[in-house]
Amino acid sequence: MKTLLLGGTVVSAAGERRADVLLEGERIAAVGGNLPAGDARVVDCTGKLLFPGFIDGHTHFDLEVCGTITADDFATGSRAALRGGTTMVVDFAAPDRGESLASGLARWREKAEGKAACDYGFHMTIDDWNEGISRELDTMAAQGITSFKMYMTYPAMMIPEGDMYRALLRLKEMGGVAGVHCENDGVIRVLTAEAKAAGRLSPASHPRTRPAPLEAEAVGRLLRLAQLADVPVIIVHLSAKESLEEVRSARRRGQTVYVETCPHYLLLEDGVYDNPEYMEAARFVCAPPIRKAADREALWAALSRGEIDTVATDHCSFTTAQKRAGRYDFTRIPGGLPGVEHRGMLLYTHGVAAGRITAADMCRVLSENPARLYGCWPRKGTLSPGSDGDVVILDPAVSGLITAGEQAQNTDYTPYEGWKTACAIAQVYLRGRLAVDHGRVLDTQGQFIFRGKNQL
Ligand code: MN
Repeated sequence: MKTLLLGGTVVSAAGERRADVLLEGERIAAVGGNLPAGDARVVDCTGKLLFPGFIDGHTHFDLEVCGTITADDFATGSRAALRGGTTMVVDFAAPDRGESLASGLARWREKAEGKAACDYGFHMTIDDWNEGISRELDTMAAQGITSFKMYMTYPAMMIPEGDMYRALLRLKEMGGVAGVHCENDGVIRVLTAEAKAAGRLSPASHPRTRPAPLEAEAVGRLLRLAQLADVPVIIVHLSAKESLEEVRSARRRGQTVYVETCPHYLLLEDGVYDNPEYMEAARFVCAPPIRKAADREALWAALSRGEIDTVATDHCSFTTAQKRAGRYDFTRIPGGLPGVEHRGMLLYTHGVAAGRITAADMCRVLSENPARLYGCWPRKGTLSPGSDGDVVILDPAVSGLITAGEQAQNTDYTPYEGWKTACAIAQVYLRGRLAVDHGRVLDTQGQFIFRGKNQL
């Protein structure tokens, strides 16, 4: 099976150039000018941008949260991902405390296998530390799991600082990298107890009990532990201006710090929590919470300066009915937003078309950096001969509209309802096969991607 993508503009982190792309079997056979069509099926890409398949390094499909399970499983979540140009997700395998990492990984592979329509990998959550887990890290690497996750908040998952430090040393030894959820748990608990005691139980209390300084404090604390351990770390879903200052300080000291942010922190403001319609506000509950306009602008500036390495979604979707579990108490609202479907279009519209970042920047944070950071470069993340035939054909001449009624995400709302897009995802190829054709998701089979060490 050969396909010639003819006459488009190929985007990489280095820039844009006019080039044809020849897909043969599952791979890219050639990229260049005037490639001969031969017996290939020819697709006219005139006027369109060709990106390497987007990689979402932060999704939660088929995850139990607050006694309910995310609305998207690997079947629906991966189809929504593909529809928006995301050809690979890295989800989080989360073993229960006391469960081996091997058993946790087996459970997550089972959730995805045969169901995922896009390619996938897993970060492994470390919420406990002992000899057994320490030994298992090598087994994980041998099975293509080279990135890990630790939490500084959530009593069910947070790891004590001493253990986090031990885990960082061990990751350094085995060449793994950890992403960390940074928020100060102790003070959040105090602020939450105060809000509840005062009867302030609506979603308006959510951002007020998890203010930006508590994220920045945890970022700073983590970065000092990473300095001592002399190991790079990833700050996942960084949302606050103050947190960026902590990252800059650590980088000035010579530390390697990777930063991920999410579309909702780049595009929304905390006023969404003050909506008098309780459930409208509840739909936006996620952690860290959506911040202020000044944070949003600081994130855009950092993105355009190359201070942010990846933009991922933290897709963790619930329906409004599921969010109703917290209709009398904001602390019982399952936390998380849908978003895996719309990341590329939002970043193009509000980043590239708005003149805040270039298409090359977009390629860097959606494709190239995640592929390097998560150890699947150059198989993923680049349109180069020998790479997987994962291609997003983006049409900047067509505008669109984001609505819940039209989306493939398995929820009844989107945080971007009624938002216009300055582009459309015309077609998506997954390992050489047409996976999406003008919004229609075709039958494809995702593969588990064995990942190596961080190359960023
Ligand atoms: Mn998450």
